[in-house]
Amino acid sequence: MSDSAVRPLRVAIIGAGPAGVYAADILTKAEREFEVSIDLLDAYPAPYGLIRYGVAPDHPRIKGIVNALHKVLDRGDIRFLGNVTYGRDVTLSDIRDMYDAVIFATGAIKDADMNIPGIGLEGSYGAADFVSWYDGQPDVPRTWPLEAKEIAVLGNGNVALDVARVLSKHAEDLLVTEIPENVFEGLKDSPVTDVHIFGRRGPAQVKFTPLELRELSHSRDVDIVLYPEDFEFDEASDALIKSNNQVKTMVNTLTNWIVEEQDTGASRRLHLHFLHNPVEVIGEDGKVAGIKFERQELDGTGNVRGTGEFVDYPVQAVYRAIGYFGSELAELEFDEKRGVIPNAGGRVLDGKGTHVPGLYATGWIKRGPVGLIGHTKGDALETIGNLLEDRMELPPAVNPSEDAIIELLQSRGVEFTTWEGWKKLDAHEIALGTAASPTETSVGPVERTRIKVVDRDEMVKISRD
Ligand code: NAP
Repeated sequence: MSDSAVRPLRVAIIGAGPAGVYAADILTKAEREFEVSIDLLDAYPAPYGLIRYGVAPDHPRIKGIVNALHKVLDRGDIRFLGNVTYGRDVTLSDIRDMYDAVIFATGAIKDADMNIPGIGLEGSYGAADFVSWYDGQPDVPRTWPLEAKEIAVLGNGNVALDVARVLSKHAEDLLVTEIPENVFEGLKDSPVTDVHIFGRRGPAQVKFTPLELRELSHSRDVDIVLYPEDFEFDEASDALIKSNNQVKTMVNTLTNWIVEEQDTGASRRLHLHFLHNPVEVIGEDGKVAGIKFERQELDGTGNVRGTGEFVDYPVQAVYRAIGYFGSELAELEFDEKRGVIPNAGGRVLDGKGTHVPGLYATGWIKRGPVGLIGHTKGDALETIGNLLEDRMELPPAVNPSEDAIIELLQSRGVEFTTWEGWKKLDAHEIALGTAASPTETSVGPVERTRIKVVDRDEMVKISRD
């Protein structure tokens, strides 16, 4: 019997977002005849990945998931090591020396590409980059150009709704959230009056979800504008509305918004357009000046075809929210088409399609950026099930001591953070919110729950103090 069969199984999970934490939790609780010892590594100094750096600040309901993840990490049986970048601070061979198995849970944080003329103009942005900015991700610039009065948001998913909502809200109304100061300062001066969301298919083919849609109408001093000519339903749409309650609810919400008077004379408007396929971002002096669409019609199957009719909208900024894309990881194969690590049920594959013993993937880097956060649990169950099944064939670590990674990071001068460090930063951010409360606004005093620290060095300093 090898040494790894009697000592605890050492597992490294790369990525402390929901996918990584769920995998760690499921592995910890799984029925098994051996001990496990798990390290959760993350490139950010703070845990929670997508929840801290991907969920819109005015979504406290989803932020509630943080409480569940906090409980898991606070039990003390999973070790968090933040500010450690895979491929830079630690290599694959370092990790393989110290752990019997590695699970990659690095998610997807880039924007999917869109290839239409003018997409590279100044004023054309990826939604994921904007999300990173408003969520205070440490590695992006602190300022964001918000000079446009009219803005186009492309896509009909939840990210499009998040981005359009944040762009159209009055900044003061975000002060109750945890937005960083630089984000409030940036949004405060935005001259925006009209945000247009464009879907290329019909109202029954949207990808967003009912709660998120309804939330759009809750913004103060923002009117919703819809266009009756966009409300087209084919046979497939009717069947979908009948069979799918979620679609039915959303179509009802949208049609009710047309029927009810939405024009209250608000100073900002949020327009929802359907059956608009973007074909060109129009430029003037190198900057976005408009956007051209081909009107679409449903083809009976829920898909669309072009009508040959084109329509232009004057806008000064374009945000494409057409999906996320995973990033390649050092020393691993990468599926360039899907933006995932090639895998079979979470077992990482090499270039020949053979499982690389000891390597696993879970979450968006395993299956692509689709599904709500909770769906990641099912993913983790499958990956962990396969890892446990492979238990006896895992290549044993040569240096399985729990101190090994700490010594390696220290020898390389990596200023890693810990769970205790996160608790300090967490308390610090909450204290910043308390100290700034109440903040006087034009609609009265606001209590601030937390103010996020954005600067990486400052995050590390507070955590390691
Ligand atoms: P998504 O749900 O996949 O939506 C992408 C949208 O972009 C679709 O409407 C798609 O239209 C459109 N699109 C794709 N390529 C296009 C193109 N070339 N031109 C025009 N439109 C194009 O992606 P997402 O919004 O990035 O969301 C990713 C995942 O995160 C989803 O599962 C989402 O629910 C989740 N999420 C959830 C929340 C929340 O719960 N509050 C918040 C944010 C994100 P077609 O349908 O026609 O392809």
